[in-house]
Amino acid sequence: MGSIATTRKYGLFVEGQWKETSKRDSVFDKYSGNVIGTVSVSMKEDVDAAVESAKKAVKVPFSPYERYTVLKRAAEGLMDRQEELAVILAEEVGKPISESRGEVARAAQTLEISAEEAKRIHGEGIPVEAAPGSENRQAYTKRVPVGVIAAITPFNVPLNLACHKVGPAIAAGNSVILKPAEVTPLTALVLAEVFEAAGLPQGRLHVLTGEGAEIGGWLLDNQDVNMFTFTGSPRVGQLIREKAGLRKVALELGNNSATIVHKDANVAEAAAVTAQKSFNNAGQVCISVQRVYVHEEIYEEFLEKMKETANALVETGGKREGVFYQPTILTNVHDDMKVCRQEVFGPVVAVMPYGSEDEVTRRVNDSEYGLQAGLFTNSLSFAMKAADEIEVGVLIINDTSGYRVDQMPYGGVKKSGSGKEGPKYAIEEMTEERIVVFNL
Ligand code: NAD
Repeated sequence: MGSIATTRKYGLFVEGQWKETSKRDSVFDKYSGNVIGTVSVSMKEDVDAAVESAKKAVKVPFSPYERYTVLKRAAEGLMDRQEELAVILAEEVGKPISESRGEVARAAQTLEISAEEAKRIHGEGIPVEAAPGSENRQAYTKRVPVGVIAAITPFNVPLNLACHKVGPAIAAGNSVILKPAEVTPLTALVLAEVFEAAGLPQGRLHVLTGEGAEIGGWLLDNQDVNMFTFTGSPRVGQLIREKAGLRKVALELGNNSATIVHKDANVAEAAAVTAQKSFNNAGQVCISVQRVYVHEEIYEEFLEKMKETANALVETGGKREGVFYQPTILTNVHDDMKVCRQEVFGPVVAVMPYGSEDEVTRRVNDSEYGLQAGLFTNSLSFAMKAADEIEVGVLIINDTSGYRVDQMPYGGVKKSGSGKEGPKYAIEEMTEERIVVFNL
């Protein structure tokens, strides 16, 4: 694979300009360790200038149809640069080129859906006239932008997760300051180029690179930032929630995703999909399958079949070779072990037997996290019971916890966070509902 990112040198994208700073950071190819680019390190004055410019920009009229047009063009712009972006993703994240191409296509989808949603933001009529004494009044609600949004994103899916914040924020009429992960900033900077070329008005998007804790702290200190939307670890999520005070916060955090395989499931299919979704992106996906509960009657058969698929991926086995860790299936695991309790974020999956529906429901719920879960079953009653009782934001029937498409509401409960992504739902988070009451 050719390294077209080798000579990349980026400044910050602030106030519609590319700005060099005195300090630079290197970005590395995660496979070879080679430097593939350098980026400017933001200082406090850059953060404050971005916030000031973002605040001014929200006052400049930008109609829903204009937002639609810009987002649509940006979606097309991403696809025009698909191969270039895929190579950067493969290098800066260290993911296979086929997955990287898929991420660019998903990111374009996310912007396209955001474009469509820009034309559908609406309120509703409120029948205040039905209240005694209010017969001569009428009211409706409207959704207004929150203003300046700080978007902080993680390293594992750097382009699509940035689009899940930037797309809806722009669709809803806000200005965004994007702070990508230190180790994967390049795709976010190309995204700024794509929006610039798509005609996004100046000040609506800024990209600040540099040290996460420093930039995060300066953004949190600046009271002109109205909302924080964060995807990343629970540790940083909690810190943002504490420092944001009364401001809006949306948090997409970690998980130790469970998938149940019931005795009436199609075992071969469940085993193949589960192996694939446990090791996708080397397990560095927040909904990567980590805990698999298999009914005791099919446990051995499932394990054999899952091993077959895993072996076909790469040799299995708990070993590290340089920067690689082999896909690893753990058995004889107890619920109290770290591999079940904490988020692994690597190609490791634990497979455990269970006896009854109630037992497995209790064990899946015995977790600090609650983002997504999967259940393979042909029993309608178990599926319906799981829909009522499994404590997650998203339950997937007859697939693993690893299923996601970009228009669905996506977000967790417990330590997995609060607030939803998926453009339509993120727009709800990124707008305020205002009610207007007329005294006729
Ligand atoms: P991380 O929390 O280390 O970093 C995320 C972002 O926060 C980065 O941009 C980083 O620079 C920034 N940051 C670091 N310290 C900060 C501070 N003090 N203040 C403000 N910002 C700060 O997470 P990561 O290692 O990049 O990503 C992995 C984590 O992300 C996993 O826990 C994974 O589950 C989670 N994740 C969740 C989802 C989801 O949608 N729920 C999706 C992908 C990843």
